[in-house]
Amino acid sequence: MFDKIVIANRGEIALRILRACRELGIKVVAVHSEADRDLKHVRLADESVCIGPAASADSYLNIPAIISAAEVTDAEAIHPGYGFLSENADFAEKVNQSGFIFIGPTADTIRLMGDKISAKNAMLAAGIPCVPGNNDPLTDDHKKNLKLAQEIGYPVIIKAAGGGGGRGMRTVHTEAALLNAIGMTKAEAGSAFGNDTVYMEKFLEDPRHIEFQVMADSHGNAIHLGERDCSMQRRHQKVVEEAPAPGITEELRKKIGERCAKACIDIGYLGAGTFEFLYEKGEFYFIEMNTRVQVEHPVTEMITGFDIVKEQLRIAAGEPLSATQDQIKIKGHAIECRLNAEDPRTFMPCPGTIDQFHMPGGPGIRCETHIYNGYKVPPYYDSMIGKLIAHGEDRKSAIARMNTALSEIIIDGIKTNIPLQHDIMNDSAFAAGGQNIHYLEKKLGIY
Ligand code: ADP
Repeated sequence: MFDKIVIANRGEIALRILRACRELGIKVVAVHSEADRDLKHVRLADESVCIGPAASADSYLNIPAIISAAEVTDAEAIHPGYGFLSENADFAEKVNQSGFIFIGPTADTIRLMGDKISAKNAMLAAGIPCVPGNNDPLTDDHKKNLKLAQEIGYPVIIKAAGGGGGRGMRTVHTEAALLNAIGMTKAEAGSAFGNDTVYMEKFLEDPRHIEFQVMADSHGNAIHLGERDCSMQRRHQKVVEEAPAPGITEELRKKIGERCAKACIDIGYLGAGTFEFLYEKGEFYFIEMNTRVQVEHPVTEMITGFDIVKEQLRIAAGEPLSATQDQIKIKGHAIECRLNAEDPRTFMPCPGTIDQFHMPGGPGIRCETHIYNGYKVPPYYDSMIGKLIAHGEDRKSAIARMNTALSEIIIDGIKTNIPLQHDIMNDSAFAAGGQNIHYLEKKLGIY
């Protein structure tokens, strides 16, 4: 096992990784921006290194500064968390070239899966069902594009091959709108992702977002940890996640999960990963793979008792998977509410000082957050300040526990989305389960 690693992230995930390191006896180096000196994990770390000014581009995305921090502290590996450099193949490559271990898959795998077109093609080859589409970059040949859209059938969606974070997509309902939509998505993708390659696929009108968690080691083993339902979204961003997905049978879970695990072996996958699917009328359609730990990993941990972050560390250190597929058993139901520092009605970010924080508790409640009394939420980063997770013997009891926890939690001084989360937990359609990806926006009156 490692003696010391660098956590190249901030906020709740950095604290989550620090806790896993503590359990495994690994020392932690926290790297942070000038705005993040007071982060909880920075205070708890064995060593800390300031890697630059507040702006992410100068700190959390500053590859040479992060690698230098690993060098000066004599660390062995770097955990990228999620977001920032976690899916940057060049970073993974530079980490390795500098003599450190990147805690995640190889740079080549990140590259393969980071491009949504090559990812789809790799998945088709591995027998994973994908959204019908062209699976090639779109050219400027408008006639050909029109023919393609006709073959796929309207509505279609134009997506950036290098897109992420719910950006770089445009839905097209009519032939007349196609040319313009391709042009706009290309331009947007070029400026946002530095890659203007776009492709076309069928726009599924009422799908659910269901994803499978996988873990693969360097000894040729791969397992899946079941699925999560992340259909409660706003602007393609997840708001509530749960596991297992309502209505998915054990048989279907086994069928798709095993294909995902096999695909990991086919592509030489290493570490934790997620296969994201749209699910409509009983069919799964792959959309992309996330080659890192995800925000919503705790719901899977709660129902399987499997520690995904500790396993990432063990796998990166060369150990074999600590469980076989047969040992993975799903118990009960778990729900996660993301807690954001934002206005619950306008969704405008709301940074500021937390005057009072009271953490909820009780059976089955887990609170993943870096905030504390007097902590100042900086305006420079994502507005997510934590996650509340509730586990119960079934979905109904998980919702009841989440409701209790949401009534107990106190975050004063800034606005948060707690009222919205409360609303969702008391919504009768949510209680019924299995709503599609448009449900929340419809409820909010913005779809
Ligand atoms: P990103 O990498 O930006 O997260 P994804 O490909 O994972 O992009 O898609 C994010 C979300 O966009 C999905 O959860 C879904 O809501 C919507 N979406 C993507 N592709 C389609 C599609 N073919 N049909 C309908 N909705 C889609």
